[in-house]
Amino acid sequence: MADDKKNYTTGFGATVDDDQNSKTAGSTGPLLIQDTHLLEKLGHFNRERIPERVVHAKGAGAYGYFEVTADVTRYTRAKFLSEIGKRTEVLARFSTVGGEKGSADAERDPRGFAVKFYTEEGNYDMTGNNTPVFFIRDPLKFPDFIHTQKRHPGTNLKDPDMFWDFLSLTPESIHQVTILFSDRGTPRTFRNMNGYGSHTFKWYNENGEYYWVKYHFKTEQGIQNFTRDEATVMKGQDPDHATRDLYEAVKRGENPSWRVEVQVMTQGQAREYRFNPFDVTKVWFHSDFPPVTIGKMVLNRNAKNYFADVEQAAFSPANFVPGIGASPDKMLQGRLFAYHDAHIHRLGPNYHLLPVNRPRAAGVNNYQRDGLMALGDNGGDSPNYYPNSFGGPEPSSGVAEPPFEVSGQAARNPYVHPNDDFFQAGELYRRVMTAEDRDHLVGNITGHLGNARKRIQLRQAAVFYKADAEYGSRVAEGLALDVKEVKRLADMTTGDRAKATA
Ligand code: NDP
Repeated sequence: MADDKKNYTTGFGATVDDDQNSKTAGSTGPLLIQDTHLLEKLGHFNRERIPERVVHAKGAGAYGYFEVTADVTRYTRAKFLSEIGKRTEVLARFSTVGGEKGSADAERDPRGFAVKFYTEEGNYDMTGNNTPVFFIRDPLKFPDFIHTQKRHPGTNLKDPDMFWDFLSLTPESIHQVTILFSDRGTPRTFRNMNGYGSHTFKWYNENGEYYWVKYHFKTEQGIQNFTRDEATVMKGQDPDHATRDLYEAVKRGENPSWRVEVQVMTQGQAREYRFNPFDVTKVWFHSDFPPVTIGKMVLNRNAKNYFADVEQAAFSPANFVPGIGASPDKMLQGRLFAYHDAHIHRLGPNYHLLPVNRPRAAGVNNYQRDGLMALGDNGGDSPNYYPNSFGGPEPSSGVAEPPFEVSGQAARNPYVHPNDDFFQAGELYRRVMTAEDRDHLVGNITGHLGNARKRIQLRQAAVFYKADAEYGSRVAEGLALDVKEVKRLADMTTGDRAKATA
């Protein structure tokens, strides 16, 4: 009814008299600069876009909850994990990594799998992927790696040479490359893929004892992937297919869910494990550290406004709660800096005040003040310094992470066992994949690597050969390369310090 209609106002609350006709001198114009509504409207429109994320630009999200299903209090004091049956509101965002905001959901790419837990002790973020490992394990390599997965500086095109040049000179990437070029590199939807915390994290309990953990979010919709032909078709048919699928499934009330598992390692086991447990290019074998189910994540509510709830959502692996902390994983340590810094650039220094990023079950009391877009009362007239004798918030030493030993020579230290880099990729190829998976893997690789120049094909084929002789030989044959030459290069490839010279 007309009476229920709200007045259309300017951004400052003044009622707008007409939004169809600009103010002009006579019916033909010119425009009058005193049409302040027009000036405000055009000015705001010009600023509608914020910088897109430099990685994970294209994404979709939904709200839901995490429910605890097992007692983990002997490992962690985190309150949101303290009781079987306890539920915590979550926001999950799924994404591709390398493409721009308008790119197709069906691209071959890892998928981001980020979850924000709105806990009573503050927000806890898991910024994972749909793969348990990563291409590199030192953050110093990250900007270069991402450059090679984006556009060539001269042609502004995706470039197979730079894509494979970097990877073949970075042999520790072989495990992730093998997963990416399996059909899991093109998941059918965001609902049909697993999520992994990828890094090793620390859990500590009330007694100050700590453990190392890895998270696995196992899809309850079942794993489903596109073949490369299906993915190619979908990119043209519906570039937003996974965004659409998630939105519509949640709207239909299907409540997509993931079983949450953890692997737990003691400090003693970490010292003795045959792989470096903090190397993000490696998994912990399930037979060595069996995953245990601890909870369930259910998504049951779409965002009302995509920009407010998903585009402005800012996840950071540095957002811990008491009971959870970092491991020495170098990539994780680099991300502890990079995410917060990226959000300050993209959303401004007060991005944590935006409704989607504000804690929902915990208060915020500190001495941060001012800055661009200081929303709310900015602390009112309460003290803006610490210590003070005017009743300002006090730190609480009871939440401190237990002390831990660090030692070693300060230097630009490489990983000590780079020759392990090929084994787990080989195991995936030999032990986990079916014959059909292996056929698809080799076809997916040759279809892409075949576009790079020959010397790069040779060097990369040698890396595959190093993981598994049959794997490398099949890639070489698919590319019409000399298998003997590939084997010779493989013998010279010895992990992340050495570079085959093709
Ligand atoms: P298992 O042999 O016990 O299980 C195989 C795992 O591999 C399952 O978790 C399965 O996921 C997953 N998987 C199957 N196909 C692919 C694929 N194309 N890409 C990525 N993952 C896939 O594992 P192990 O612990 O003995 O490790 C063997 C190899 O399995 C590892 O080298 C690693 O490559 C891979 N893997 C291991 C994981 C771990 O945390 N240990 C996690 C994921 C992969 P699902 O059960 O959902 O089908």
